[in-house]
Amino acid sequence: MTSEPLYHPQGDELALYEAAYAARLPVMVKGPTGCGKSRFVEHMAWRLGKPLITVACNEDMTASDLVGRYLLDSQGTRWVDGPLTQAARIGAICYLDEVVEARQDTTVVIHALTDHRRCLPIDKKAEVVQAHPDFQLVISYNPGYQSAMKDLKPSTKQRFVAFDFDYPLPDLEAQIVVSETGIDIATATQLVRIAGAARALKGHGLSEGVSTRLLVYAAQLMRQGVAPRDACRMAMVRPITDDLDIRQSLDHAIDAC
Ligand code: ADP
Repeated sequence: MTSEPLYHPQGDELALYEAAYAARLPVMVKGPTGCGKSRFVEHMAWRLGKPLITVACNEDMTASDLVGRYLLDSQGTRWVDGPLTQAARIGAICYLDEVVEARQDTTVVIHALTDHRRCLPIDKKAEVVQAHPDFQLVISYNPGYQSAMKDLKPSTKQRFVAFDFDYPLPDLEAQIVVSETGIDIATATQLVRIAGAARALKGHGLSEGVSTRLLVYAAQLMRQGVAPRDACRMAMVRPITDDLDIRQSLDHAIDAC
């Protein structure tokens, strides 16, 4: 990666991550969607000068999607490494985004990589890949989506050190919106105020608040000439709820700001 992924720290997470990387500890980044977890990991990989391999996890993902599989082509069968194996071989940071989406039997493949063994057994190839010294595993996790059906096994959780992320504090969030979009600070501050009103509804019919990502979207629409009222409705209300009452309250909050 050549250009720096811009990241505004919320606290001392840069130094703490550097310490975790120096000790090659597996890292878990927890927090609501769109609050800066992936950007943080991208920034840290850039800062440490390591390649980053990101995998967006989903419930259909199998262990083979991470580890690799035999493919059949005109030359016969050949083995193709999956992203996790590739990262372990070349010494990349492997980022499993929303790991809780993956089934537990898939997640178990990371176990031997995340303890003192630092290796990845590939059963189908009867090979054990010893991780490159620079390899590190990072996972993201949204505690809001947690349910008995979908959670990491305690034996998986206890292999990581964790960072707790949340939406940035208002002044910082406004700065982020400014630097991501080039919008003026007064408008960014107003967007953050609206987001605050929407986030207060969390638990009262809204399962997730308005993410920083959505504030950035609203500002980007405004930069394209969309009227603020419409941009806010499009980016900060319509995506997060279909409930008419809640939409109305949010629309009122926008009009009042
Ligand atoms: P997630 O927590 O879902 O991984 P992202 O890291 O993708 O969220 O963040 C969503 C967007 O919010 C980013 O693309 C970026 O525009 C913005 N953002 C959030 N936090 C920060 C931050 N601390 N510094 C810079 N940009 C941020």
